[in-house]
Amino acid sequence: MKVELQNLTKQFMSRHKAGEVVTAVNNFTFTIPDGKLVGLLGPSGCGKSTTLYMICGLQKPTSGKIFFGEDDVTQLPPENRGVGLVFQNYALYPHMTVKQNILFPLQNLKGADKLTKEQMLERAYECAKIVQIDELMDRKPSELSGGQQQRVAIARALVKMPRVLLLDEPLSNLDARLRLQTREEIKRIQKETKITTVFVTHDQEEAMSISDMIVVMKLGIVQQIGKPQDVYNSPANLFVAKFLGTPPINVFGGEVKGGKLCIGGEEVLDVAGVSDCKVYVGIRPEGFILREDGPFTCKLQNVEVMGRDVSIVATNNASENPIIRAIIDADNLVDTNAENVRFALKPNKVFLFDKETEERIYLDGQKPTEIPR
Ligand code: ADP
Ligand code: MG
Repeated sequence: MKVELQNLTKQFMSRHKAGEVVTAVNNFTFTIPDGKLVGLLGPSGCGKSTTLYMICGLQKPTSGKIFFGEDDVTQLPPENRGVGLVFQNYALYPHMTVKQNILFPLQNLKGADKLTKEQMLERAYECAKIVQIDELMDRKPSELSGGQQQRVAIARALVKMPRVLLLDEPLSNLDARLRLQTREEIKRIQKETKITTVFVTHDQEEAMSISDMIVVMKLGIVQQIGKPQDVYNSPANLFVAKFLGTPPINVFGGEVKGGKLCIGGEEVLDVAGVSDCKVYVGIRPEGFILREDGPFTCKLQNVEVMGRDVSIVATNNASENPIIRAIIDADNLVDTNAENVRFALKPNKVFLFDKETEERIYLDGQKPTEIPR
């Protein structure tokens, strides 16, 4: 089931300042393709949950429309939309067993949807099997780990065979190892069931690792939409560039003069075709090449060897952050006693942004044929 959002907008009266209006979601237009997992990503307060609640019907948009397939569901109450919802806190009924929790949504079905007891049980066990908790059906939630509880919550969302599955930060309450495991589990379940899924998270690594597509939001406004790797490789603005990637992108103040990119007085890269202007320069950690005669000089602070890679920690007066991190192949020998370290730059890992608007300025050969926004 494809889900189409048309100019979706939601305004609230501010919780903090009387009379002030907060635009939680601002003119969001996007079609979530059928059977795909879309990650909705952005910092806390950017409008992710509000978007999700509008898709499921818990909140009414101020303006705009929502379609499931060809059906306009904008005015449809949540129970008639056929959505499964999973929250951060598993919200299981503590006095019920796992089986009773999963059966619960089926017991209220009415009319043509009504199931016999056998059908309900069959459906519950089917979903429990998908999330691999069918051995735990007689336990109470308190007898389960966080990861197991979250899987029960997912089974409970799946049992009504939803047309759309919505997950709001479902891994936030799990410890690091379980978080990793459960996110792979969710990916597997989604692939198996092929249910169109929206996965909300503020964790870029999480979104990048499981999503077919990501939507990056800031202050209610969509910044960029695309395949995770495409967005990483070609961020549309400085915000997106900074939001994606660990270690984060290195950002410098710089200037384009006569087709050369200058950082701190050094000409570090040819940028023929770009007009003279002040810029922010984003350089991915993997964008540095260690070279004795490299044009970009930084002050060496530390060298961390991490198996396959070497992480060079350095400083530069033009850097926005206190430290710069360059990741290079462990085959490279770094003189750890040297005062300075010199780099050449990989042009496809260097991004320029307008100093005023923070929008991307594309170098020759960088411009994608179509920039999905
Ligand atoms: P996220 O899920 O990305 O953290 P939310 O969608 O919860 O963000 O919130 C987006 C913005 O809308 C925030 O500024 C938040 O304070 C505001 N907001 C959300 N719900 C309400 C509400 N019921 N009343 C007033 N403001 C709200
Ligand atoms: Mg939220």
